[in-house]
Amino acid sequence: MTHRIYAIRYGHLDRNSDLNFLGGDDHAHPMPLDYFVWVIQSAQRTVVVDTGFGAAAAAQRGRTLLRPVAEGLAAIGVKAQDVQDVVITHMHYDHAGNVPLFPSARFHVQDAEMAYCTGRAMTHGHLAAPFDADNVVDMVRRTFDGRVVFHSGDEELFPGVTVHHLPGHTLGLQAVRVATLRGPVVLASDAIHFWANLERATPYPVVANVVAYLEALRRLRTLAPSLDHIIPGHDPAVLQRFPAEPNTKDIVRLDLAPSG
Ligand SMILES: [Zn+2]
Repeated sequence: MTHRIYAIRYGHLDRNSDLNFLGGDDHAHPMPLDYFVWVIQSAQRTVVVDTGFGAAAAAQRGRTLLRPVAEGLAAIGVKAQDVQDVVITHMHYDHAGNVPLFPSARFHVQDAEMAYCTGRAMTHGHLAAPFDADNVVDMVRRTFDGRVVFHSGDEELFPGVTVHHLPGHTLGLQAVRVATLRGPVVLASDAIHFWANLERATPYPVVANVVAYLEALRRLRTLAPSLDHIIPGHDPAVLQRFPAEPNTKDIVRLDLAPSG
């Protein structure tokens, strides 16, 4: 079973590198974040990984929405309203907004993530800040509508598509591993924001549990045959390293060998 994987950039934020590493960066330089959603496709199905943020959240938080998520999906022929399966890697605002755009979907979430974003941890403003209560409420409503599939730890969703619980950034973050012609590709989401978080073994500063984060880095390396098979959540280099999908903007194919 092989799959195509698309990374679709929808947002951007300019910032300096000292904000991207716990403990800062001695040689601070511009190190912007890109925002992505991902699509996994086989002959059998389409799975969307994360739902991004919308215009309201972008304005509220000072992020640039380059293109609405639904338009990015449409550029590769995916209609949000028809999508059957959405994996939510974690419930932060930039990964779990736009839920109403997916009325037909089942949402795949880790038990630990829903417990985290609806429980005691959210009474700490520092931990709650990257969540939007409206997104969390949307997912609670979907739960009562029978539209959420809970996962615990590592599970197979479909042949060749598995989720892996990698806590640290949040307590219920999950990565998605996908069988492709070049081997397994791991959508690490925010287990690493940048390849540099993995290479330096240094967490991104938004971190719920530093020990778990560092253990997750080790685990990531066991899930993939090389760093090129591990896709970070926010690294602008993703768009440079992987081949562009023809006739689209800001969309690359992660199942194909990196070009640079
Ligand atoms: Zn993120």
